[in-house]
Amino acid sequence: MRVLILGSGSGIPVMGHLNESVLVEVDENSYLFDAGEPCAATMHTNTLLTFYGLEPQDTLPTVDIYSIKSIFISHFDADHVGGLPMLLQVMHLWQKRGDAFRFKPENEVKLYLPADVLTIFRSLLHALNLAKLRYSLEILPVKEGELYVDEKVRVSAVRNTHLKDGRSYSFTLQAEEKRVVYSGDLGNEFEALHLLDEYVDLAIIECAHFSPERLFRSLQQKEKNIRRLVVNHIHPSLYGREEEVERLGREYLNCEVIVGRDNLELDL
Ligand SMILES: [Zn+2]
Repeated sequence: MRVLILGSGSGIPVMGHLNESVLVEVDENSYLFDAGEPCAATMHTNTLLTFYGLEPQDTLPTVDIYSIKSIFISHFDADHVGGLPMLLQVMHLWQKRGDAFRFKPENEVKLYLPADVLTIFRSLLHALNLAKLRYSLEILPVKEGELYVDEKVRVSAVRNTHLKDGRSYSFTLQAEEKRVVYSGDLGNEFEALHLLDEYVDLAIIECAHFSPERLFRSLQQKEKNIRRLVVNHIHPSLYGREEEVERLGREYLNCEVIVGRDNLELDL
């Protein structure tokens, strides 16, 4: 299993901390958690460069966008969905570029959205001329509990309190006997604890709505359950302070602590 942090920033993106998006690759399949802008460009640049006979960029990951089996959107804030229409469009347009890049006929993408935005999102796709796509896109509501199962992974969702007037979720992915928790945005730092009741190989926890100190202090209650922590979706005041936050994390916690940076790759 490989985890790619495509975007590690929060509401105000900067180069190096673009909006949040995390890709989990299990064998030839991939699963995307949130689609902050510009996730399509990050994933697809090297495929396009290679296709046109140009050198790929070694600072960017190489991802086959057609390996994405499902997309899970934690909530509908712009910093989590800004890149979603462009990803759907790139998948649509690239279908024309030769057989090697086409979806297999049996392929389809499942897109899980909070139920309260399903109708709005369909209207948005119409407005963006993306209502008819050259691949099968199934749009489904996020429901609590086990949400998605295929031969490789199981994904479950739990609602959190980040949005007071809308729906927001955290996700757990299980594959190859490993567990990955993706917090999305949380209502407070203690909500991260509920996600860590069982052992996790990788916890990707946001840190835009509370300080790292508060997060690390609360996580001390569950540190025996955490193998590796990625502090992601960091507040803009933490940009450039990644090493300092990692040092602080190691003072509080007995597990590996990494601050998310764009294009960080983790093998589990
Ligand atoms: Zn956010």
